[in-house]
Amino acid sequence: MVIAPTPQTIEALLHLSASSISTLMECPREFWLKYCCGLQPQDVSASLVLGSAIHEAIAYHYNSLKQSGTEPAHTELVEVASAAIEAPQRAPISFKKGESLDSLKSQASAMLAAFLATGYRPGHILAVEYKFTIPLVNPFSGETLPECLLGTFDLVEERNGHIVVTDHKTAARIDNEKVAAPDTQMALYSLAAKTLFDVDDVSLQYQFLTKTRDPAVTLQTIARHDQSREERGALTLAASASTIISLALSHDHPQLVLPKHRSWRCGGCGYRKICASQD
Ligand code: SF4
Repeated sequence: MVIAPTPQTIEALLHLSASSISTLMECPREFWLKYCCGLQPQDVSASLVLGSAIHEAIAYHYNSLKQSGTEPAHTELVEVASAAIEAPQRAPISFKKGESLDSLKSQASAMLAAFLATGYRPGHILAVEYKFTIPLVNPFSGETLPECLLGTFDLVEERNGHIVVTDHKTAARIDNEKVAAPDTQMALYSLAAKTLFDVDDVSLQYQFLTKTRDPAVTLQTIARHDQSREERGALTLAASASTIISLALSHDHPQLVLPKHRSWRCGGCGYRKICASQD
């Protein structure tokens, strides 16, 4: 039987996450403003608030299953999600036309009803919303990077002696490309699960909750072709990020190392005003 690791104390100051690595690769300037300067965004999107609320409610559900073997009622899950939606955010919520706190709560209620009807029921739950750190190693030199990896497993289970990591995604539609192979986040999570649970093989899957008029829940396994190659690719990206950060922090003008990368992301970027002021 696989034993769940004890909760870790997150003390590391220097860390990378899958999200910070992908921000750095997609827009180095956003990375600088968010992770190096520590600036708060000017707003947060309503879909991010909804996604976090659904995550909290689902974590509540799986924690209840893990601890007592019982499933909370729909009303309980909706209370958890509603409290998360109403909680103070780090910045004003940016609503699209027709959206409001009440519409987010209604949407959360419909999505959680779909989750209770057809959501994933794992076997032996090992961890729910488990925050972890692991060392990161440069795959070329074998040296340990100054930054560790900080991440959170949504759900880890043991199925027939095998570790399965599930990541929950709330989205307007299912992205079939995401399951063709692990992305950087899931490849790093595979590596982390192997390190923390001391196993050689990890299965990965997404639980998609679609935010459509009739919400649906779909479980999709992520295809694994060559686990060590996938993990090495993700480690290479982490080592690149570490190298770029070190160069930027030692440079007189870090903005030269971390330029703006304009794309479709700019419209929803929480740093668009301050970014524009730097032109
Ligand atoms: S507005 Fe665009 S270019 Fe500026 S930081 Fe955001 S994503 Fe980058």
